[in-house]
Order: sequence, then C-alpha cells, then structure tokens
Amino acid sequence: MLNLLNLSRVELEDFITRDLGEPSFRAVQVWRWLWAAGARSFAEMSNVSKALRAALAERAFIYRPETLEEQRSRDGTVKLLLRLADGELIETVLIPDERPGSDRRVTQCLSSQAGCSMGCLFCATGALGFVRNLDHAEILGQVLVGREVLARDYGRGSAPRNLVFMGMGEPLLNLDNLLRSLETAHSEQGLHFSRRRITVSTCGLPHGLRPLGESGLAGLALSLHAPEQELRARIMPKAARWPMDELLAELERYPLGAREHITLEYLLLGGVNDAPEQARALGRLARRLEAKINLIAYNMTEGAPYAAPSPERVLAFERELWSLGLVAVLRRSMGADIQAACGQLRASASNKAGDG
Ligand code: SAH
Ligand code: SF4
Repeated sequence: MLNLLNLSRVELEDFITRDLGEPSFRAVQVWRWLWAAGARSFAEMSNVSKALRAALAERAFIYRPETLEEQRSRDGTVKLLLRLADGELIETVLIPDERPGSDRRVTQCLSSQAGCSMGCLFCATGALGFVRNLDHAEILGQVLVGREVLARDYGRGSAPRNLVFMGMGEPLLNLDNLLRSLETAHSEQGLHFSRRRITVSTCGLPHGLRPLGESGLAGLALSLHAPEQELRARIMPKAARWPMDELLAELERYPLGAREHITLEYLLLGGVNDAPEQARALGRLARRLEAKINLIAYNMTEGAPYAAPSPERVLAFERELWSLGLVAVLRRSMGADIQAACGQLRASASNKAGDG
C-alpha cells in the first residue's frame, strides 16, 4: 500500500496513468484534492469517478500525522505535538505575525527529523539524539494539519503564509526528502508557496548547502550562534567540525536572487556569546556576507548549562549591530510559556512517559 502523500507530482501522474491506466488530467484532480483541498479520504474526491476512487482505495491510502496535543500560548502561538504512524513524536508551531494589523499572517515552523544527531548543547532536540528522518508525507503533513487548525480558528481558507524549517531536526541531513517536499510545497495546483515564503534553517553542512542553494527552492537561515570558530565549537561541537572559514566561504558563494539575503541566526546565551565585542565580530561577518541578522533570546531548556541573556545585554548587543548600520531583528521569544523552542514539547512528553 502506498501513501499518496508521499508521491511527488510526477510520481502521482505515473501511478495514475501507468499503474491505474487513467488519463493524466485525473492526476491533476487527485493532486488538487490532496494538497489544495487537504482531502483525508478518497470518498471526498467528488469529481473523481467512482471507479478510480475504488482503484485508489485498493492500492493506496492517505495518511498524515495525528495531533496528540495542542498548546496555546498567550501570544497566540499554537504548538502541536504530532504522532507519526510508528508512534514517534514531532512538533510543529504556528506563529502569528507580530506586526499589528497584519491580518493574522501566520508562519509555520516545521520539523524535518524526529530528534537530531547534531547535539548542539543548548538544544532540546539535540539532547534527544537522532531518531529518524521524516518523509515527504510527514514533512508536508504538518502543513495540512496546521492549515486545518488555522481554518478552524480563523475561518475557511486560512493557511500559513510562510514556512520555516526551524522545528526538530537538521534539514540538510534529510536532504532528499527536504528537496522533494520543497518542490511539492511550490506546486501551483497544491500548497503553492513561493521561494520567498519558505526558509530552511541549518547549522550548515558541507554536502548540503550547495545542493540546497542550487535547487533555488528556499531562502537560507544559517545558525551561526558564535562569531568565531573556537566558541562555536564549544556550543555546537559537531556543526563546528566544518571550520568556520570554510563555512563562510561557502556562504559567500551561495546563490541568491535580486534583493535576497542570507539570514544569520544568533542565539544569545547569557555570558557566553552576548558581549559587545562579539556583536562587533558578528557584525563584520554579516557585512562580509551582506546578511541579515536574527537574534534569538535563549529559551531555557531543562538540563542545559546556559542561561537567558539579561535584557540590558540584549539591548547593548542590538545597539552595536545597529551602529554598524546592520539590520538585526530580535525574535520575540515566542510562546515561552508553552515551551515553544524546538524539541521542548516532545522532550517534556517523553519525560512524562518516563522514556526521556
Ligand atoms: N537544525 C536546524 C533547524 C532546527 S533548530 C538549525 O539548527 O538551524 C532551529 C533554531 O532553533 C536554531 O537556530 C536553533 O539554534 C534554535 N534553538 C535551539 N534551541 C533553542 C532554545 N532553547 N531557545 C531558542 N532557540 C533555540
Ligand atoms: Fe540539531 Fe538544530 Fe538543535 Fe543543533 S540546533 S541540535 S542542528 S536541531
């Protein structure tokens, strides 16, 4: 049996025309039902012939992750804990735009793996270790689930406006499924997200950055978190095996369209990487790459050896960057009351279940 949500547009067409002997416009109809309408069953596909619906039901099914838990933050952030077919747990987060009057624009944060093998010391997902890669249906199933939650809360037709791969996992370690999912996310007859509305966040891996850049399918956010190699190696030891000068050289080559920029993510850890001279060093790197900077105030993770930075240090850090004429945005610490930093909800669910 085949999960139809695991097929690319071309694979679905092959399945319907070659295996089921139907004309190709049927594939377009089914694709629309799956990705534009979010159908959960073949019975809903009202413009598809009964015979084809029966043939589909014999050979295939539609399966997406199930919502196990929904948490709402006071700031409107909704965090969903999802269960996969084999019982594994992942998270996705719906984050409303902070600008007032932005007519409920929502960014959805997606997971690409259950767990993560990179082991960054500040990260709850890293503490879990690697569990497994998510497939196409599991990556994009999160979007289908998120869209249903938004439609329920804000009315039919509501959907996330932007997608960011900043949930659990390192997307470049699941490159094939990532690229397939990005292709499907772009499909005009389906989810229809443009490149500008999708961002992949990565700690940067030598064999992954270039294929992602060459695919042209998403914008790039690079989790830098330290302005020099030695400090980076202390807080993200595995990622820092790729020396920073090589990483930066690769970033300089990263293909960008007109008015596009790389974003450097910088997680502020109190007393570790939040000093003014570190801001200046970060600023020099951002200049060199013509990058934007996203500052993130650390969200406390149980058992991690770090503290949140003080508001004064955060402000001083931002001021240094501004004085260099750089664009630096401090991301609100979204949903801190519901443990919305990546991996935290799953971590607490496993603790409750006694296996974490
Ligand atoms: N593996 C990818 C994408 C997932 S992590 C990456 O590292 O970029 C997404 C972002 O969440 C990263 O920038 C990561 O550093 C950040 N993050 C991890 N733990 C956090 C915490 N406790 N508080 C705030 N941000 C955190
Ligand atoms: Fe993995 Fe990203 Fe967490 Fe590092 S920060 S452990 S790369 S998910």
